[in-house]
Amino acid sequence: MSIDISNARGAKTGEGYIESLRDGREVWLDGKRVDDVTTHPAFSGMVHELARLYDLQYTDEYMDQMTYVSDVTGNRISYSYSLPRTHEDLMKRRRNSEIWMQESFGQLGRTPDFCSSIVCGWYDLRKHLDTLYPKLAGNAERFWRFASEHDVAMTHAIGDPQVDRTSTTRGENRTDNAWIGVGGYAMEDPEDDEATALHVVKETRDGIILRGAKQLATLAPLANECLVYLSATFSNRANSEFVQWFSIPMNTPGLVTVCREPMSIYPGSWGHPFAGRFEEQDAMMFFNNVLVPWDHVVMLYDAPTAVRYLGRINNLASYSTNIRLHARLRTFVAVVTMLAKANEIDEIRGVRDLLGELITYAEMIDLATRGMENGAFMSDGDMINTGDGFAIGAFAAQISKRVLEILQIIGGMELVSQPSERDLASEEVRPYLDKLIPSNGLGTAERVRLFRLAYDLCMSSFGARQEIYEYWHRGDITRNRTTLYMRNNNGQVGERIKDLISRPM
Ligand SMILES: Cc1cc2nc3c(=O)[nH]c(=O)nc-3n(C[C@H](O)[C@H](O)[C@H](O)COP(=O)(O)OP(=O)(O)OC[C@H]3O[C@@H](n4cnc5c(N)ncnc54)[C@H](O)[C@@H]3O)c2cc1C
Repeated sequence: MSIDISNARGAKTGEGYIESLRDGREVWLDGKRVDDVTTHPAFSGMVHELARLYDLQYTDEYMDQMTYVSDVTGNRISYSYSLPRTHEDLMKRRRNSEIWMQESFGQLGRTPDFCSSIVCGWYDLRKHLDTLYPKLAGNAERFWRFASEHDVAMTHAIGDPQVDRTSTTRGENRTDNAWIGVGGYAMEDPEDDEATALHVVKETRDGIILRGAKQLATLAPLANECLVYLSATFSNRANSEFVQWFSIPMNTPGLVTVCREPMSIYPGSWGHPFAGRFEEQDAMMFFNNVLVPWDHVVMLYDAPTAVRYLGRINNLASYSTNIRLHARLRTFVAVVTMLAKANEIDEIRGVRDLLGELITYAEMIDLATRGMENGAFMSDGDMINTGDGFAIGAFAAQISKRVLEILQIIGGMELVSQPSERDLASEEVRPYLDKLIPSNGLGTAERVRLFRLAYDLCMSSFGARQEIYEYWHRGDITRNRTTLYMRNNNGQVGERIKDLISRPM
């Protein structure tokens, strides 16, 4: 059986993480198969940054904040896999998430802290899942144990390829529409496309055989396993073979990962401090008659469960991503403030207004996340779920472009016009730079690098991808706002207004 914790070593070290990626996985980049993702220049910056973050789990400063002792093996286990039973437990999870997110400046959508939360969500739902399909009973709990004891680095793939979205409109005017689940997700009618969408071809003694594709999975070439389930757009399938929740090791035979253009490699020596470290890669995934062992499957064929409980299994992941977004916004606040000071415009009223707008967004996300904590409750899985934070996702998408715009407005032309590290090191070029680049309290090199860093946040291909991630990763904003509208109830205010207008004013 692949679920085995006898040799588990608990929370990963950086070295253990790097070693775990050398497993024969089939990763393609620009028409070539990648032999070793850990040394390939497109990935190595990110691999070593994640390794650095994993190593934090064993530092004196962070060990007790990022790990706890397993009651089964005595291993130290990451808080990313902890199951909060009390408010205090939830605060420990928060602290762990903060460390991951702050250390990566809020740039990593797939810190292992994010998808581990979905494995905890499956655990939370285990009592329901155990009743659905006898072969899968107990799997959600066993898989959580396995993933936590091995500190499995997870990604997820939840969307089918973009082929035909028109069928989703059929859901809009249905009178039996159910807007249910903790996240209040919408039921829709996705197209069951045998040619492209992932589906079960057959069951065998060992597991299920799958064929089809998933549109993308961030971190896929650098993860240990990929969680596969269905996003809100795809959950309500008419044909049950399209409905599965499982996890698949990235080196499974027949699983083919095809990477997009990397954003970590640039010509010359124009530094990309974020792209070089935090390029997660968003890769397409193709399943070519892939066997997923039974012990890696937690739900099959049950569309009502996929629809009803999507919000619930995502609960802690939403919490984690809000903590990340706060760290990202704090990064923008810091960088924009430093740019304003570097250009001596920070005392101008209009500039302070823009800075205040940015700080408003950061504080709103922090307050909203605390609101989720405030609304936390004990689920029937004996786990703390946070209060509903669904609207935060829509708000995050609403402000994603504005945040970059503020940085661009304050940064001005210097965002595009900066010399490279080799220019800074050149005896011929440097005198011009020292003479003609204003310093305003910063050395020439520091000023150049600050603007390069700002460029990487808002203008490089990496910066643009980060914005697009923020806009899309919680799903189509139109659908999400429609969901918010559909589940809205005017309640007592509506009744009082009806009452007011029922009489002469
Ligand atoms: C950088 C990045 C990283 C990502 N990482 C991951 C990941 O790790 N794992 C993962 O599973 N997914 C990931 N995603 C995918 C993400 O979840 C999807 O992009 C998102 O759910 C929206 O789906 P879509 O892109 O297929 O857009 P669509 O649903 O196709 O929407 C595209 C446009 O069409 C409109 N539209 C759709 N249907 C209709 C209709 N019926 N009528 C009218 N208009 C319609 C939408 O409103 C939207 O404007 C990532 C995406 C990005 C950009």
